[in-house]
Amino acid sequence: MKIAVLPGDGIGTEIVGEAVKVLNALDLRFEMETALVGGAAYEAHGHPLPDATLKLAKEADAVLFGAVGDWKYDQLDRPLRPEQAILGLRKNLGLFANFRPAICFEQLVDASSLKPELIAGLDILIIRELTGDIYFGLPRGRRVATDGHFPGTEEAFDTMRYSRPEIERIAHVAFQAARKRSKRVTSVDKANVLETFQFWKDVVTEVGKDYPDVALDHMYVDNAAMQLVRAPKKFDVVVTGNMFGDILSDEAAMLTGSIGMLPSASMNSSQQGLYEPSHGSAPDIAGKGIANPLATILSAAMMLRFSLNQPEAAERIEAAVKTVLAQGLRTADIFSPGTTRVNTHEMGAAVVKAL
Ligand code: NAD
Repeated sequence: MKIAVLPGDGIGTEIVGEAVKVLNALDLRFEMETALVGGAAYEAHGHPLPDATLKLAKEADAVLFGAVGDWKYDQLDRPLRPEQAILGLRKNLGLFANFRPAICFEQLVDASSLKPELIAGLDILIIRELTGDIYFGLPRGRRVATDGHFPGTEEAFDTMRYSRPEIERIAHVAFQAARKRSKRVTSVDKANVLETFQFWKDVVTEVGKDYPDVALDHMYVDNAAMQLVRAPKKFDVVVTGNMFGDILSDEAAMLTGSIGMLPSASMNSSQQGLYEPSHGSAPDIAGKGIANPLATILSAAMMLRFSLNQPEAAERIEAAVKTVLAQGLRTADIFSPGTTRVNTHEMGAAVVKAL
């Protein structure tokens, strides 16, 4: 089992270090190789995704990724910015399906800004299409407008587009995931306004006919954004496009209290995956040793389950995380009076001990 370990920038190195310790504490053998990515790779090699890093990621069964980015790189040309590394990895590895579970741990119901009764027991899975939509659609750029409201002035444009196979494959992923859960899928679109998402809705509906045991409903994205904070437990599996999924999955993350708790997986069609916390590099707390490593540790558990075929080891890690929460250990982001504040390293060590 070969794992490419790409810590990246900011808190990335701190949190991935703890996840690696947890993996090493399992009675399994991994070949782990670490490489630079993001701003760290730009500093060392002049590019956020050097060839050697991409080669390592392609050859591995799975990639354990920290986070990339820092405000200090905002002035760089777009292709050299740290965030391009993640887009490059998604594209080159064909990681089209992003899984973002939003689970409210029993011990953290009070960490959410929502009323405890709304989120107690919350367990939803957002499946976001990751390689299409307006984030990748061409053409894009800047030009002088020849029509529109202000012809002759400067404008910028992006292209929203989805092909039938792109929608079909993500729809299959969602229906299959729903079969392992409560057999409900909500497809989120903007079919009332956008041609792309009327097509999305039509294709998802067609694919749904292959899964008569799974209930499918459709919701406009603006309504979905409201329902997520009004009655989040109504959702089970949510499937949506790249841009809507980007926004809704962060909203869902905050339902559970801290983005520092939430793992994610991005998969291709051969079960190869990139596993990373849902949050970014948090430059505001980098180097302070206070970041929550649990999202990354839980991402490592997803990696064991989905790419390395070790579901029991995944369950052991998830149980160990529940144990440390039950012991009252909290990093600053999830701390509340009456619990014990620990730093990044202490949290990682507690998970290892609980294992
Ligand atoms: P962020 O997720 O890095 O941070 C948002 C807030 O959450 C900050 O206050 C941060 O301190 C806090 N936070 C995040 N992770 C935490 C953790 N594990 N423990 C405790 N607190 C945590 O988002 P941002 O500030 O908007 O972006 C910072 C940088 O990260 C930017 O350069 C952005 O482009 C990049 N980014 C990268 C990824 C990625 O690598 N996949 C994703 C999102 C943002």
